[in-house]
Order: sequence, then C-alpha cells, then structure tokens
Amino acid sequence: MKAKELVFFKDLLLQQRSDILNKANAFKEEAKQGDVQGDEGDLAVSELSLSLTLRLQERQAQLLSKVDRALAKIEEGTFGLCESCEEPLQLGRLRARPVANLCIACKEDQENKERVFA
Ligand SMILES: [Zn+2]
Repeated sequence: MKAKELVFFKDLLLQQRSDILNKANAFKEEAKQGDVQGDEGDLAVSELSLSLTLRLQERQAQLLSKVDRALAKIEEGTFGLCESCEEPLQLGRLRARPVANLCIACKEDQENKERVFA
C-alpha cells in the first residue's frame, strides 16, 4: 500500500477511535443519571436502558479493539492484508470498513464455517 493511502487510513482510524471514546463518555454520563432512583416502574425502565447501554458499550469496546489492531498493523506494515490468505484487501472495502481484516473470499469462508458450527 502507498504511504499516502496509509496516512489516509490512519487518519480515518484515529477519527473512529476518538468517536468511540466520545460515545463511551456520553454513555457514562447517561449511566450516572440513571443512578437516580425513581419508583418501581422507572427502575424497570432504567434497568432496560442500562442493559442496552452495556450491550452498546460492549460493541463499541469490540470496535475499539479492532481499530487499535488496525492501527498497530499500520505501524507493522501489514495493514490492508488479509489475515488469512495475506492477499491485499480491496481499497474500496477498506474505505468502507478500515478495520476489515479478511478479504471477501476468506470472510465468506469464515461466515460459512460459523453457520455450520452455530
Ligand atoms: Zn483472504
């Protein structure tokens, strides 16, 4: 991959990273407000929103670790290569999803396997 492209993806990933961290802070603020106890009905609602918040946070945390991994790969010089067959990923695919770590063929392979074992 060209140096210019790497810079582009690094910027994109750093942007995503700060977005995730900003969202995480917003979640924390909301969770704090949720600590205020109301009557039982309110409590049920806030428990529901808390579990939603936690699920969202879990997804954000997973995404964050993918972003960090992609950034580490930029440093290592392996960014943009499929982790399974080591073929370069399509630029268009990376632009849409800079944290992608498998080419389309390997991704489909993996999804098929997951379906079999599910
Ligand atoms: Zn592959």
